[in-house]
Formats: sequence, structure tokens, C-alpha cells
Amino acid sequence: MKIKTRFAPSPTGYLHVGGARTALYSWLFSRHAGGEFVLRIEDTDLERSTQEAIDAIMAGMNWLNLDWDEGPYFQTKRFDRYNAVIDDMLVQGTAYRCYCSKVRLDALREKQMANGEKPRYDGHCRDSQCSHTDDEPHVVRFRNPQEGSVIFDDNIRGPIEFSNQELDDLIIRRTDGAPTYNFCVVVDDWDMEISHVIRGEDHINNTPRQINILKALGAPVPEYAHVSMILGDDGKKLSKRHGAVGVMQYRDDGYLPQALLNYLVRLGWSHGDQEIFSLDDMKTFFTLDAINKSASAFNTEKLQWLNHHYINHMPAEEVAVHLAWHVEQLGIETRNGPELKDIVKLLGERCKTLKEMAESCRYFYEDFHQFDADAAKKYLRPVARQPLEAVRAKLATISPWTPENVHHAIQGTADELGVGMGKVGMPLRVAVTGAGQSPGMDVTVYAIGQARSLQRIDRALAYIAEREAQG
Ligand code: GLU
Repeated sequence: MKIKTRFAPSPTGYLHVGGARTALYSWLFSRHAGGEFVLRIEDTDLERSTQEAIDAIMAGMNWLNLDWDEGPYFQTKRFDRYNAVIDDMLVQGTAYRCYCSKVRLDALREKQMANGEKPRYDGHCRDSQCSHTDDEPHVVRFRNPQEGSVIFDDNIRGPIEFSNQELDDLIIRRTDGAPTYNFCVVVDDWDMEISHVIRGEDHINNTPRQINILKALGAPVPEYAHVSMILGDDGKKLSKRHGAVGVMQYRDDGYLPQALLNYLVRLGWSHGDQEIFSLDDMKTFFTLDAINKSASAFNTEKLQWLNHHYINHMPAEEVAVHLAWHVEQLGIETRNGPELKDIVKLLGERCKTLKEMAESCRYFYEDFHQFDADAAKKYLRPVARQPLEAVRAKLATISPWTPENVHHAIQGTADELGVGMGKVGMPLRVAVTGAGQSPGMDVTVYAIGQARSLQRIDRALAYIAEREAQG
């Protein structure tokens, strides 16, 4: 069987983590099988769909690198096709026109509720012989089977059965002539030859209706897999309150797409006790039956842990491409400083996010305006003058400028003065970075560069002199 899956978001908001996970699972399932993946924008809800949301979905898919083989299809561009199918169903008798007024339907609903029944259409027009003129307002309803049940074997949840009596005759075309959501999905899945529908569990109730329509059309019924919800760490449905936002916010917050993908694949799916999955691993191992039936809870700490892992284990050149975006956001000009891949190597260990990394790499490229007050108070004291002058003299003569030679200069200064490395290293650190924390001094000074380091040491010496003068 040809495997073909789709991701079919409604463009009413961002691509949030739940949607991204569904997209990932659909994508992985098709990629695992060497199949195809379709992107379909379900924009039939004209009031709630926006171009902004479409752009955000595409941006999210692109950022996550989930590529599609077909699409994006837009349902609003396929209304003629849906209507042609509906017209055909009217001829076949698998659909019928319903002229019931709102007043009648409201009264029906009230009566049913008063009797403790579930509100449902009573089939008034199903077999009505009344004649109507063409321009009389009406909807078109699907003639749902009245007997028996719909059973499907959910690829994640196992067999699910709905009695046909639970399903009333669904409106498939509104009075204004617009086909309805469930119907468009059916025609699309049919036309696009979708073999596996992988979607959120909030669509389970739509599935029996869609299957009945597919059967009435003589269309093949795909396999279904309904993925459970994602919960916040408080056990409630994940929402904005938990900081759940569009996937692009994760980029803005400094996450690597690889880390988010790894996080999302494990959020509800497992392969033994493996935690780290490259994209190739995911494609190799992904199966639907290893998806968890129960809901999963979002855990930001784990995502951070994975991000830290990827920052330090992916090729630094690749991480640097993502870091470049953050650095640019901060307006840091990197032309006259170390390559960003070196920043990744220098700061990777101490940063959980690329945002943090971008924020802490500024001193490699720009002179800072002030020393960190605490660090300066502690380390740029009169006693630091001699070690700073001595190390400056050594740094000034280094050739070639390498981290090893910088190391020897610091070590040599400490040895000559008979003091510990810290007595030289700490004032030097504050002098060249402005702060009390940084990666190792040799690599840091090396990356900042010779001329710039010397200038900054001079500035620190001037600061100390001023302090000395003030007593
Ligand atoms: N458009 C639906 C949604 O965004 C998905 C429908 C489907 O996958 O069948 O929730």
C-alpha cells in the first residue's frame, strides 16, 4: 500500500506544540515508510482563518524542517470540487435537501432536551415528498445509515465503535452554499489518497461521520490514529497559561529545532529508553503502535536539557547558523570578532539556550561600557595592578596568537610573581570581559583578540589607578 499522510491545520492561530507534534508524527510515519506527506490548510472557517496564521504555520513547518511533497492545498480553493461531489450525492440519493426552518429545529432541540434526549436532527426532510422551489433556502444533509454501527481500528487506541443511531444526518452544505468542515475533510482525504489520518484525539467524534460519508461515496477508508492531548505540568490541558505558544516562540526563546523535534517525538512516543533521537533515528524507529494512549505532560526542563545537549553535540557550524539569527536580533555586529562556531564551542557548556548564548557573547565583539560592579569591586583592586601589567606585557609580545601561547603568558605571569593562576586570571577576566564569569581565560582572551585584549587591560589599569587615587 502506498503510504500517504497529511497535516491539516486550521489557520486560526499559531502552529502550537500540539499541532507541531501531530505534524511530526504524520511526517515521520510517511518518511519511515518511504511514503508521501501532504500539507493542507483547512481554512473553511472564513471568520476565524487568517493569513497571519497561515504564515505562522508555514514558518513553523519550515523552521522545524518538516517538508511536504504536496500542497499546501487550501480548502477554500476547492469549493467547486466539494459542491460537485454534493450535487452528485443529491442525484445518488446519499444526500438530501433539508428545508427545516431554524424555528422548527430550535423547537425540536428544546423538546428533546426537555425529554432528557441528546439533541439530534429527526430526519424530517429525509424522505419528505413535499415539493420545493429551487430558490427556497435549504441545507444539504448526508443520509447517514440508521442501523448498525461504525467500527474502526484506531492505530493507537484499538477498536472504536459508534452506533449509527448516535449520528444524525450531518449538514454537508449550508444555506449559503458553503460545504461544511467534515465534508471537505472527507473529499480531501479521498482525492489526496490519504492512507493514514493521524490527528488529535479531539477529532475522534468526527471519524465515524467521515467514514460513513466515505463509504457512501464508494471511497476507500483510510486508517486512523488519534493522538492524545498534551497537558501542562499541572495536569490541565496545555494552554497559553502554561507558556504554550507558537513554535516560533521556541525559536525566539533560543531553542534549536532539532531539540524541539526530539522533545516532541518523545512526548507521547518511545523507543526503549532512548532519549536522544537524530532525525534519521526518528525516521527509522517511528511506528504508530509505540505512541502512548494516555496524555503527556509538557516539561520545559526536559526541553531545556535536550536543547543544551544539541547545542553541545551538533556540529558547531550548524548551531552557529541558528545562533546567527539571535545575534542579529540583538544587533551585534560579528564581522570583527571570532566566528560564531567558535562562540558555540566556547559558550555551549554554560548556555541552555541560544538566546542566552547570544546575550553573553557580546563582549567578544563589542567593547562594554562598564565593568560589572561586583566583579570590579572584588578583582580590579590595587593588588591586581601588578599581575595585570605583567600579563599585559607578555600578551603584547605573543606571536603567533594562539590559545596555547595565551595560556603560557598567564601561567608564566603567575609563576614569575609566585602567585596562583587565579590572582592573574580573575583580574584579567574582569578586564577583558567586563564580568566575573566566562569560559577559560586562554580561549576567551584568544577569541577576543590581541589588540582588543590589550586595550581592555589598559582600561582596567586606568580604572584601578583611578581607584587608587581615590584612596
Ligand atoms: N483542521 C483540523 C485541526 O486543525 C484537523 C483535521 C484533521 O486532521 O482531520 O484540528
